[in-house]
Amino acid sequence: MANIKPQRVLSDLRTLATFGSYKSGVHRPTLSASDIAARQWFAARMREAGLDAEIDGIANLLGKSRASGRKALSGSHLESQNHAGWLDGALGCVYALEAARAISEDAATQHLGVDVVVFCDEEGHFGSFLGSRSFIGSLEESEIDGASDRATGISMRQSLAAADWAGRPRHLIDPSRYVAFFEAHIEQGDTLETEQLRIGVVTAIVAIWQYGFTVTGEQNHAGTTSMTRRRDAGLALVRLLSAIDKRFPEICGPRTVWTTGRITLDPGSHSIIPGRAESLFQLRDADPTVLDRLHAELFRLVDEANAARRCELAINVISQSTPARMDERLMQALDASAQRHAPGKHIRMPSGAGHDAQWLARKLPAAMMFVPSIGGISHHWSENTADEDIVLGAQVFTDAIADALKG
Ligand SMILES: [Zn+2]
Repeated sequence: MANIKPQRVLSDLRTLATFGSYKSGVHRPTLSASDIAARQWFAARMREAGLDAEIDGIANLLGKSRASGRKALSGSHLESQNHAGWLDGALGCVYALEAARAISEDAATQHLGVDVVVFCDEEGHFGSFLGSRSFIGSLEESEIDGASDRATGISMRQSLAAADWAGRPRHLIDPSRYVAFFEAHIEQGDTLETEQLRIGVVTAIVAIWQYGFTVTGEQNHAGTTSMTRRRDAGLALVRLLSAIDKRFPEICGPRTVWTTGRITLDPGSHSIIPGRAESLFQLRDADPTVLDRLHAELFRLVDEANAARRCELAINVISQSTPARMDERLMQALDASAQRHAPGKHIRMPSGAGHDAQWLARKLPAAMMFVPSIGGISHHWSENTADEDIVLGAQVFTDAIADALKG
């Protein structure tokens, strides 16, 4: 068996946390000085591990194994959200590197190859999954031309030039080189911790469906318009949202989530009945039949509200992504490895957050593995995972990759 080296895993993660350290977490936005330095340091660690590592024209870092035969591809991202945690992304990069090292160090597995990849901008400082989309060939140069940092306004081209990576060719996946893509990540929720489990095997990355509600009523005086006569767009919207919240639990899936992220009332004043109200609404699930059912119900509830004839309600679909199913054979490899190292302490679960793996799944059989997040916290500097869980996860992950390569 390819044994991971616990101290090497923990020390690589702690070193990465020194790039842009902030309280007990990191502040390492994409292509910031600390992100550039972290990528360079990680490339050097890849080379020490015998991988041929190159950073490309969009700051994706690929470390290629020299082993013959088809390989596994594994990795995640190194940049962080602003003032966020030390493990989000970094954990998956270090696990991938450790899998490559441990597999190449063991006589029984050293013929197997693992390529390690670090994607750029999974956290969306410049755009949406620019690195992983570039790697699978789904990113035009024009989108990079138009990308700029949401916080600073600095263009991506300028930032790439500052890092001396502008103009380099971009790495493009060669699907025939690989049997599978594996990504490890912190769970970012509290399912594992609450159920006292240690490993999550991801079944699918959820789809996100987004909607806008618009309600038209009649703007009028809040003091002189009787309650029977008024057509309050704000009230009609809140009633609709309340009806959704009452109905959805009866027909949703076990892990469906829905969120009203914004409500605006027009004109939005003390003494004026709102003539217009708008809201942004989002739902997430991994099961297309659940998504279809909830989608139809939203339209039915809007029709029902319109039948009351007080205000006019409209729903428009903003976006509907597709859930990314993980590969059954790879999930079984993760289940079996988790059962060997943490019997009875693992579970299959969907990912409620987006990850690079959802893009890689379009080109390769893909799998994801979670380790527990203490208190379910992430995207915050206090994010953490127990050292024992970090070490256990690295071994489970490495074994599953070796098994998938052998099978
Ligand atoms: Zn992440």
